[in-house]
Amino acid sequence: MSEEIEKVQCLIVGSGPAGYTAAIYASRAGLNPVLYQGLQPGGQLTITTDVENYPGYPDGIMGPQMMIDFENQAKRMGADIRWGYATKVDLSQKPYKVQIDEEKWMETDALIIATGASAKWLNLESEQRLNGHGVSACAVCDGFFFKGQEVAIVGAGDTAAEEALYLSKLCSKVHMIVRRDEMRASVVMQERVKATENIEIYWNTETKEVLGDKKVSGVTVLNNKTNEETTIPIGAFFVAIGHKPNSDLFKGVIDMDEAGYIKTVPGTSKTNIEGVFACGDVQDKIYRQAVTAAGSGCMAALDAERYLGELEHAKG
Ligand code: NDP
Repeated sequence: MSEEIEKVQCLIVGSGPAGYTAAIYASRAGLNPVLYQGLQPGGQLTITTDVENYPGYPDGIMGPQMMIDFENQAKRMGADIRWGYATKVDLSQKPYKVQIDEEKWMETDALIIATGASAKWLNLESEQRLNGHGVSACAVCDGFFFKGQEVAIVGAGDTAAEEALYLSKLCSKVHMIVRRDEMRASVVMQERVKATENIEIYWNTETKEVLGDKKVSGVTVLNNKTNEETTIPIGAFFVAIGHKPNSDLFKGVIDMDEAGYIKTVPGTSKTNIEGVFACGDVQDKIYRQAVTAAGSGCMAALDAERYLGELEHAKG
């Protein structure tokens, strides 16, 4: 262990809506929080464009700007926001220890985990190049921009089914690309998808390339049974093949579900370790919205405040 150790009352790791909101509340509660931003300061919203569903921005806001606003608000409340990435944790005894950038160790009485999740991508060059220009991993966030247009969605789980249904209400047609001859989604969701007239399912089909120069104009798909290649003209390409919670650091230490989402006590942000709280997408596989993440960040700060108060009281 390096020699350099800094002790704080409240440490927050992660800098999306959950982390920054936790920092705002924790600062205002006098907990003097330190927040480490992680590898992608601002989180998933920094790779989106317009955000129109976050209350309080009547004209919408660009995702990266919204995260700058969150950060500035947290700073104004007194939060100590720092570059740095949590590389190791030791939660075996109090105060808890978190290593930053493989060097410095932080000691903290309360730890708030807000490390988020990352969308899985197909990893096609064209998909990455057009990300934010018609390629999106969130239909609820971006579907609205393609109202009345034809769009495609890849995936066959509950998320893909839910998002295909959502898009079918906004878009003239939804082309759903499924790589096998069956869907993984729950039967009821599959039935709804199949019963929706403007959703066309392409079974046994892989995405070859997303087409477009500055914005998405189509997608080329390959039927892996017939070897037939088809080009579908579309305005947007949605990827719904799952998310990966950024929880590797806590594996074997904090209780998680089989997909790696941190388990919290329902209705709270409490994990199985006293004084360790989780908020945002790292513990939410259902809603995954900026506003729900922010709400859970608030819960984590309030839970931490109460916990630290009790700790103080116990010390006498
Ligand atoms: P899942 O892991 O359940 O499904 C991912 C889907 O993407 C699978 O159909 C998979 O195909 C497909 N896929 C993966 N990689 C590729 C690829 N490279 N190319 C093409 N297709 C690919 O993820 P979800 O996000 O759908 O769901 C995660 C969890 O959250 C699940 O437990 C789900 O039930 C739950 N959930 C619940 C909801 C609810 O209750 N309302 C809403 C949303 C999610 P294949 O089947 O061939 O492996």
